[in-house]
Amino acid sequence: MTQLNHTHNPSATSWLASANGHPDFPIQNLPYAMFAESGKYLSWRAGVAIGDQVLDLAALHAKKLLTGHAAAALDTAAGPSQNVLGLNAFMATGPDTWTALRHALFALLSSDATASTQADVKACLTPQANAVYRLAANVANYTDFYTSIHHARNVGRIARPDNPLTENFQWVPIAYHGRASSVVVSGTNFRRPMGQSMAPGAKAPVYGPCARMDFELELGLFIGQGNALGEPIALANAEQHMFGICLLNDWSARDIQFWEMAPLGPFLGKNFCTSISPWVVTMEALAPYRLPFTRPADEPQPLAYLDSEANRAQGTLDIQLAVEIETAHNRAHKEAATTVSQTSFRHQYWTFAQMVTQHTMGGCNLQSGDLLGSGTISGPTPAQAGAIIELTRGGKEPITLNTGETRSFLLDGDAVTLRGWCEKPGFVRIGFGENRGEILPARP
Ligand code: MN
Repeated sequence: MTQLNHTHNPSATSWLASANGHPDFPIQNLPYAMFAESGKYLSWRAGVAIGDQVLDLAALHAKKLLTGHAAAALDTAAGPSQNVLGLNAFMATGPDTWTALRHALFALLSSDATASTQADVKACLTPQANAVYRLAANVANYTDFYTSIHHARNVGRIARPDNPLTENFQWVPIAYHGRASSVVVSGTNFRRPMGQSMAPGAKAPVYGPCARMDFELELGLFIGQGNALGEPIALANAEQHMFGICLLNDWSARDIQFWEMAPLGPFLGKNFCTSISPWVVTMEALAPYRLPFTRPADEPQPLAYLDSEANRAQGTLDIQLAVEIETAHNRAHKEAATTVSQTSFRHQYWTFAQMVTQHTMGGCNLQSGDLLGSGTISGPTPAQAGAIIELTRGGKEPITLNTGETRSFLLDGDAVTLRGWCEKPGFVRIGFGENRGEILPARP
């Protein structure tokens, strides 16, 4: 696992003033995205967030400021031969190369950089206000886990009040194979899906627009190096395959989902849109915010292949998360959105390393740029629930927004924004930016 080093030093500053004290993108973060300048021919390239700017890695590559391993790393991320679809080749290189580039960019952006370096790098900055984004990687495969015991209990209670938790939950990191083609970047709005649903007590299903539209607050893990078919990733090696983390909203059509998912799992209830944030925060940037993975003594302990000293020592991440709902009324009156939930990833029942190991244990091959969703992140209290179906107890107890409007489920025109950040005494705050999507009316 990544050790702390000078790039985590809270007293480090950048010559770029907007970086210092920036809530998301100080010099200690340096997350990656694929971006282009809006209003022009869209020329996609890799970028790194610093303060309110994007450092254009293709422009930086042309400056030839780096040498050795860092120069090779930059060539992989943004050299002329790089695929504009995403950072898959850079993700595939592995932790030593990710570290080489992070440390080199840190030096270029540091207050300690020479005046001529600062001038060279300044010429490679684009304001984030002028940037548009695409997915950070070409996502060939998307898998969504189900690793919050609080979410599993809250949702299970709606379907099975006497036995909310399925008997496998505390033994197996549960997941389904999702749809990669409908993974979209933040800011992509989508139409409410049509589908089939069965109302409680009805004799036959009906076809129509989804009536129970929900969000799911999740994190997404981008896979770095893949593994060969038939060669599982042991838990001891899982962290080396983890490139970084983004915000993920697994939009869910609950009425469609609950009617269709027996016995093979979610299908149309989940495959119409999955939104992720443009910025991917690296595992190295997240190193200060790790926590021990613990299991209460009276609960099943992980089987040996899902257990290790390193995972127990620091497998968990304390990532703070919040969900906002903005209605058409909020927008019309230029009012702030309502924060409907706030929690932390620390409450999750399984770690990302355990998810990677579980995914590959039967021999399945992961590829660079594959996306693993954490599953809905719900904390132990009702206000920490990561989906509206939990906040409203199956739609029975509507929540009231700051406009006075109520919601059992999401309506057309509602936008949901996910935010994430890490803070800890002795370190600066870093953040993930935002992940936003708006629900458009169903296709007529
Ligand atoms: Mn999900």
